[in-house]
Amino acid sequence: MSTPHVLVVNAGSSSLKYSLVDAATGATPGHGLVERIGESTGTLVHHGPEGETRIEGPVADHEAAFQLARDAFTDHGPQLSSYDVVAVGHRVVHGGERFSQPVLIDDDVLAAVRDLVPLAPLHNPANLEGIASARALFPDLPHVAIFDTAFHQTLPEHAYTYAVPRDWVGEHGIRRYGFHGTSFSFVAQAAADLLERPLTELNLIVAHLGNGASVTAVRGGESVETSMGMTPLEGLVMGTRSGDVDPALHAHLHRELGWSLDEIDRILNRESGLKGLAGENDFREVLRLRDEGDAAAALAFDVYCHRLRKYVGAYYAVLGTVDAIVFTGGVGENAAPVRAATLSGLERLGISVDEQRNAERSDQARSISPDPSTEGGTDVAVLVVPTDEEWEIARQSVAVSG
Ligand code: AMP
Repeated sequence: MSTPHVLVVNAGSSSLKYSLVDAATGATPGHGLVERIGESTGTLVHHGPEGETRIEGPVADHEAAFQLARDAFTDHGPQLSSYDVVAVGHRVVHGGERFSQPVLIDDDVLAAVRDLVPLAPLHNPANLEGIASARALFPDLPHVAIFDTAFHQTLPEHAYTYAVPRDWVGEHGIRRYGFHGTSFSFVAQAAADLLERPLTELNLIVAHLGNGASVTAVRGGESVETSMGMTPLEGLVMGTRSGDVDPALHAHLHRELGWSLDEIDRILNRESGLKGLAGENDFREVLRLRDEGDAAAALAFDVYCHRLRKYVGAYYAVLGTVDAIVFTGGVGENAAPVRAATLSGLERLGISVDEQRNAERSDQARSISPDPSTEGGTDVAVLVVPTDEEWEIARQSVAVSG
C-alpha cells in the first residue's frame, strides 16, 4: 500500500480545485480544476498520468463538479483505489474565533461554519457547498476542515482589536482575524528548515504575495501580527483588492455619488488593486507594461512595493529583531523587481538583497541576501520560499484524521 494520500479540495463560488496529495512528500499524482460551475458552459481540466484532459459542458452545481472530478480519476487516472486515501481535506476561509486548529467535520462544525457566513459571505457558503457535495460522494472517508484564519488565532488582543466600541467584538465578531494561514504555517516551517534553526527561536516577516496578498509577523512559530483584518480586504495592494483605504471612503462615495454599499464593496474587492491602477491584475502584465514605459503600470508597481515596505518596517518594530524576511506566493516567488524595490536602502536595518541571487530563477527555497557578515551578526536573511498550501492541508488532514 502507498503512503497516506489526501484529496485536497478548495471550493470557490463557481469553481472547484482538487488534488490528490501524498501527505509524506507533497507529490500530486492527479489534480484538476472545474470552472464556471452553474453557468451554461463549464470546463474541467484534469491532470493525471495521461497528461492534461479537458472536458467542456454545463456543470450544474458543486455536486456535479465532484462527480466530474471523480469520473476523471476513473477514466483518465490515477485510480483513487490504488492509493491509500485517508481523508478529504477542505480549505475553509473563515473559522472565526472558534477554530484555531483543523477539525474533523461533523454537523456541529458545519453549523459553526454556517454561523460564520456573515463574516465571509463570498467564501464560506461555497466552502460549505463543497463539503456537502464531497461528503455525499465520499461518505466513508473522514472530512477535515482547514481554516485560513486558524494560524492567526495566536494574535495578541492588542493586535486583533479595532478601536471601535468595545461591545462590537463580542456581539458582532468585529475584530481582525487574518487569512492565508495555511501558507504562513507551511512557509514559516520551510524557512526554519532552510535556515537550519528551530522555528521556535525565529522571528520572521513572511509576505504571501499572490492574487490575494498579506504579510505576517511570526514569533517563535506563532502569528503575532498580520495585514488582513476582519475580511481579506485589509492590508496590502492585491490583484483586484485595494487593501488599506481610509475607512471613511465608503461613506464619502455613498453620500457624494449615491453609490450603494454593495457596489462600493464590489469595486474595492474586484476592480481595485493592480487592476484598478494598471488595468491588469496579473503581475506579469504589470511588469511587462512597466518595462514598456506605461506610466500607470509603473505607478501601480510603486504603490504595491511602497505599501509592502511600510508593513515590513512596521512588523520589524513589532518583532524588535528579525531573523528573516520571507517572500512567497506567485508574485513573491517570481517577481524579483518587487523584492528588490521593497527592500532597497534598508542596509542600516541589516536588510539587503543580493542582485544576482535575486535575479536567479528557481523553484527551490533559497536565500537572496548576501552571505551573513561575520561581525555584528545582525543581518536579516532574505528568503524566497515556494508555498504549498495543498501539501500543508494534506499534512494537517492526516494529523487530525489519524
Ligand atoms: P498565486 O495567487 O500565488 O497563484 O499568484 C498569482 C500571481 O502571481 C499573479 O498575479 C501572477 O501574475 C503572479 N505571477 C506568477 N508568475 C509570475 C512571474 N513569473 N512574474 C511575476 N508575477 C508572477
